[in-house]
Amino acid sequence: MPDRPPLTLTFAAPRRGKPPRHFADLAPDERAAAVSELGLPAFRAKQLSAHYYSGLSVDPLAWTDLPVAHREDIREALFPPLLTYVRDVSCDGGATVKTLWRLHDGTLVESVLMRYGLRRDGTPGSHGVRSTLCVSSQAGCGMACPFCATGQGGLQRNLSTAEIVDQVRAAAATLAAGGLPGGPGRLNNVVFMGMGEPLANFNAVMRAVRAITSPEPDGLGISARGVTVSTVGLVPRIEQLADAGIPVTLAVSLHAPDDELRDTLVPINTRHKVDEVVDAAWRYAERTKRRVSIEYALIKDVNDQAWRADRLAKVLQSRGDWGWVHVNLIPLNPTPGSKWTASRPEDEAEFVRRLADHRVPVTVRDTRGREIDGACGQLAATERAR
Ligand code: SF4
Repeated sequence: MPDRPPLTLTFAAPRRGKPPRHFADLAPDERAAAVSELGLPAFRAKQLSAHYYSGLSVDPLAWTDLPVAHREDIREALFPPLLTYVRDVSCDGGATVKTLWRLHDGTLVESVLMRYGLRRDGTPGSHGVRSTLCVSSQAGCGMACPFCATGQGGLQRNLSTAEIVDQVRAAAATLAAGGLPGGPGRLNNVVFMGMGEPLANFNAVMRAVRAITSPEPDGLGISARGVTVSTVGLVPRIEQLADAGIPVTLAVSLHAPDDELRDTLVPINTRHKVDEVVDAAWRYAERTKRRVSIEYALIKDVNDQAWRADRLAKVLQSRGDWGWVHVNLIPLNPTPGSKWTASRPEDEAEFVRRLADHRVPVTVRDTRGREIDGACGQLAATERAR
């Protein structure tokens, strides 16, 4: 198969396809104003919040504590349907479910819900059960990483705050209803590692993070410590994230410790070099006291050489070893038809050993979702090709 021409970086999202305003787009003070626009007293805003954020429900017609005469108006003005379920696929005995959503303008996005801590028979293990949702923050992505299905499709548009929040609400509702093995439960973690570069859609993502982490009923009540925002290294935005004062975990997709390789693997590196990105990650850790996660997709014969593990350790250790960083190695989940593939097990093991020898905390991410085209963007790419 001939190589594709390199994609170009795209920062400005096309303005088309803006979704209708939704209740989940609004901060608490804006909600009161929105209900008064409908001729309702301000206390109704709290009721709507309780239904949406605590009850995890989206249909005002079913909310019997609202005046019947106003339910239709409320639905039309504040709760337009945003996500239409297309299909889902599951694996790991039903403990991993990837859902494909169609947005109001036909664009497709994915979210992946994963349940951990189950025994083989699907019953809760002795250490308790935890649930994580991987959300999309953009339809497509403009960061052009050549090994990524989403990057291959380019950037279609930014998601609105509510389109992000509603992925989380929908997953929380699925868990509350006992839709995954292990019985009814709560969502503990949200990771912005689905489609898109979250920090390229900064304002919508930050408003979504506020809605996700605000206590019920103003928000979904998920701890900021349970939220991870990933980035390929938009340095000014990492600083802005630290300024926001919400102690989310920052995950930086480094994928190479040297500029020569990273320029080709993660094209944003042509703007923000490895040293600049690692410095920004270090400052984030210093300011927030949150350990930063360095994400490193291990790609066979591309970035998995032992000397690159030594180099990575050196780059990180040169900023100090006070526990500011942790490396998360990700066996690459290959895109169909791609030349990029996962490292040999022995190369992966040597990479881990080298980092550990240099006293860099390291884990290898489990490859949940591998059987279901689990890497970001692959389900949507398959659907578009139908
Ligand atoms: S790897 Fe992440 S940042 Fe890179 S193109 Fe894919 S979705 Fe975008």
